[in-house]
Amino acid sequence: MEFEQLKAACLACTKCGLCATRTNVVFGDGAPNAEVMFIGEGPGQHEDEQGLPFVGRSGQLLDRYLEAIGLSRSSNVFIANIVKCRPPQNRDPLPEEWDACLPWLREQFRLIQPKIVVCLGRIAAQRIIRPDFSVTKEHGQWTRKNGVWFTATLHPAALLRSPSKKPEAFEDYVALREKIREVCSRTYPG
Ligand code: SF4
Repeated sequence: MEFEQLKAACLACTKCGLCATRTNVVFGDGAPNAEVMFIGEGPGQHEDEQGLPFVGRSGQLLDRYLEAIGLSRSSNVFIANIVKCRPPQNRDPLPEEWDACLPWLREQFRLIQPKIVVCLGRIAAQRIIRPDFSVTKEHGQWTRKNGVWFTATLHPAALLRSPSKKPEAFEDYVALREKIREVCSRTYPG
């Protein structure tokens, strides 16, 4: 119930100027009891229109990777963005917009209590793992903070622009499957 209350409050949020130009708040999508959480930077046009994270072509690619390792938003992962409303013309969020929105992600994290966090793309990795994180060089590497495992992989939109990088991205998902087997107890039944 607490999660639904958080969602309702977030959907009505007016804490920063992006509330004036959004179509929908993109709260996140998936299982509130997921052990694995994926985090992206913020919504784009399709996400804003549908109120869901990672839809459109890059979302379909993400869903295919998830399916390949036995994951899906309908059962065992939660997908969220750091900033919940789309900046106009897809500009970068302003510092005050990041700051205003981050508490929503912190609350999601507190309630979901994931064992694994996967950052999607450079911006999310630099905000969540380390400010100088190089997603090109360091994707697929793991760090443990406060008992939670963190990693990053290439953003699905970047893979659509550079399909030659898909095999190395897929290796990250294969490694994720291994990490899930190692540290999660409910994600893969049996
Ligand atoms: S971007 Fe975040 S803080 Fe700003 S209005 Fe949307 S939900 Fe609220």
